[in-house]
Amino acid sequence: MLSKIIGQAEALAFHLEPQRAIRLLNAMPASVIETLQRVRFRQTLQLAATRSPFYREQFRRRGINPRRIDHPSQLGDFYTTGEDLRAHVEDFRIGRADTVFETTGTTSPVPKRVYFSRNEIDEMGKASALGLYFLGLRREDTVLSAIAAEKGVWPLKFLFAGGENITESARAMVQKTWQAPLYLSYGQTESFGSMGVECAKQSGYHRNDLNFVFEIADCDETGSGELVYTTLTRNVMPLIRYRSTDLTQLIDEPCECGLFARRRAKIRARTDEMVVCGMGNVGPWVFEDVLRDVNGSGAEWQAVVKHNGRRDVIELRVESENNGHEAEMERAIMGNLQDRFSDFWKNYEMKLYEFRVVPYPLGSLRNGRKLKRVVDERQMGGVVSKTVEATPTSNCQE
Ligand SMILES: [Zn+2]
Repeated sequence: MLSKIIGQAEALAFHLEPQRAIRLLNAMPASVIETLQRVRFRQTLQLAATRSPFYREQFRRRGINPRRIDHPSQLGDFYTTGEDLRAHVEDFRIGRADTVFETTGTTSPVPKRVYFSRNEIDEMGKASALGLYFLGLRREDTVLSAIAAEKGVWPLKFLFAGGENITESARAMVQKTWQAPLYLSYGQTESFGSMGVECAKQSGYHRNDLNFVFEIADCDETGSGELVYTTLTRNVMPLIRYRSTDLTQLIDEPCECGLFARRRAKIRARTDEMVVCGMGNVGPWVFEDVLRDVNGSGAEWQAVVKHNGRRDVIELRVESENNGHEAEMERAIMGNLQDRFSDFWKNYEMKLYEFRVVPYPLGSLRNGRKLKRVVDERQMGGVVSKTVEATPTSNCQE
């Protein structure tokens, strides 16, 4: 009964003018959103357990009784992965699909396929629309290319981008060029649409708790781990505890902007971009930090881990203008490594690895749509490489 009232309140909210909808959602206590999540989760789980051969088999094998489960965290070590989607996609599909999307990922030549109904896409669109309204988008505003065609590139209210995680230095560069804030949205092909958007504070993504339950798997002492999500409003191909491969953490403290939706930190790395090498356990955030405020380095970079027969070699490829300041840039990078990462520096002094900075011409590193930031090339030389595999152990949510 309560859930029905909540569902109706939410449905009403989405039919109101956006500013009234946000006011209504902000006024709801957090427990209302949690109840809505619980009800939607139970419906999704029932649907998956009774109609999808994949989930049915997995739950049977693990002795899980879906009727006893209220929250994804009660599913123990059960997760779904991109590999499951690649291997058994037809066993996930349980309803009539109007549309199919395929990923263009960097990790495997085999695309992942995800099915949706038009209705599901509309549902996701409503939540995204609220996020954009909150950022200041109004009906009379036009999208970027239409403004540019008419008035040139000025003025812009804001830029809105999704997909790949832009570094903070690249964001600063874009904001400076366009004289407008750049807000980010987070989503995956598998999630369809936005699982979170930034607000004007740019301090984490506000989670889309109306359409998803988020958890963190395998977290470290700081609460950082792999983002796992469960869809709440999908009935063509529901995803239960889907492993995003993105490393981040949940932020439950309210945001200064006052929006009801809680937040998630920026993506730190992808689990498949973390590498154990002579330097230590490294991911993209390490090199991003090492390159921060280095004069003369362009926005694009890539770290390649190799082995020279004796030790690992970390080759940091950095785009830069060919202006004769390469040696200075290298000195600044090594200085940052020493100042900001004492453990990695200790290993450097112990000669556990070599570190090389290799300048590249501007625009030469990115040849596909996505640039893989950390690449382990040690397999090719026949040297055993250890890429960190996320093994499901514990869940960070109590
Ligand atoms: Zn905020």
